[in-house]
Amino acid sequence: MWTAKTVADLRRQRLALKGRIAFVPTMGALHAGHIALVEAARGLADHVLVSIFVNPTQFAPHEDFNRYPRPIERDLAMCEAAGVAGIFNPGVDDVYPPAVPPCDVSIPSMAGILEGAIRPGHFAGVCRVVLKLFNLTQPHVACFGQKDLQQLRVIEAMVADLNLPLAIQPVPTLREPDGLAMSSRNVYLNPEERRHAIGLSKAIKEGRALIEVGGESEPLRVEAAMRQVLLAHHIQPDYAVVRHPTTLAPLDSIDLKLTHGVALLVAGRLGSVRLIDNVLLDEGQR
Ligand code: AMP
Repeated sequence: MWTAKTVADLRRQRLALKGRIAFVPTMGALHAGHIALVEAARGLADHVLVSIFVNPTQFAPHEDFNRYPRPIERDLAMCEAAGVAGIFNPGVDDVYPPAVPPCDVSIPSMAGILEGAIRPGHFAGVCRVVLKLFNLTQPHVACFGQKDLQQLRVIEAMVADLNLPLAIQPVPTLREPDGLAMSSRNVYLNPEERRHAIGLSKAIKEGRALIEVGGESEPLRVEAAMRQVLLAHHIQPDYAVVRHPTTLAPLDSIDLKLTHGVALLVAGRLGSVRLIDNVLLDEGQR
């Protein structure tokens, strides 16, 4: 497995690769959820490339960019064990040369809702870095976790609208045995917060049961129930919503057939730690 530390190194390594390339962009601090993306990627291509880059443009000034975990040696060992061909692990100035004026890439319909409302500028930062990474790695397919559903939808929209020549492969969320979605940010939780964090997956489970078992068709009632579960677990909700599965727009009523499923999304804070979770209900359910 090679590691490219600069754009020039990566370009050189990429030129030497023949066959199909699958790409997995990450910010490092890898866990089994990231490795599930690598495994999905291996099934889709001859070589898997992984980027490990904590991207400053997707963090707001008050967010956790500086304290974001960076266990690079452990990350490299996990990638090597998972059969990754090459790593791109650049420095910030290499990705964003100070002399180059920034380009704005965004999906306006998604930029201001949910994560975009709470983290202004976040998706413009995500789009800009992911577009750069696609241009550098030139993959045939790129794998993204459903864990970050809005990010997945934003990237799918960018690829479709800009006619980018690659496929996007969604990968289901990997969870801890108690249901907590795996996340690099889970390491910030103290033992008490870790116990309460299960409220996120419980909230979406509750919403799911109301719709699939109870036949609830009123989004506000499902949203209120999910919010209650978050609060009962001492999670300060940012949102607990029922949305269209692709546009993530609000719905007047829940009709899985009409909208080809729905998405339930929750986000909340446990102390200083912010966590998100979601589930997609498909139209096969009532
Ligand atoms: P991050 O390093 O947090 O930017 O995540 C890199 C990629 O891993 C994104 O596509 C995430 O959606 C995905 N990912 C993060 N957590 C999980 C998980 N628990 N299961 C599956 N994919 C995940």
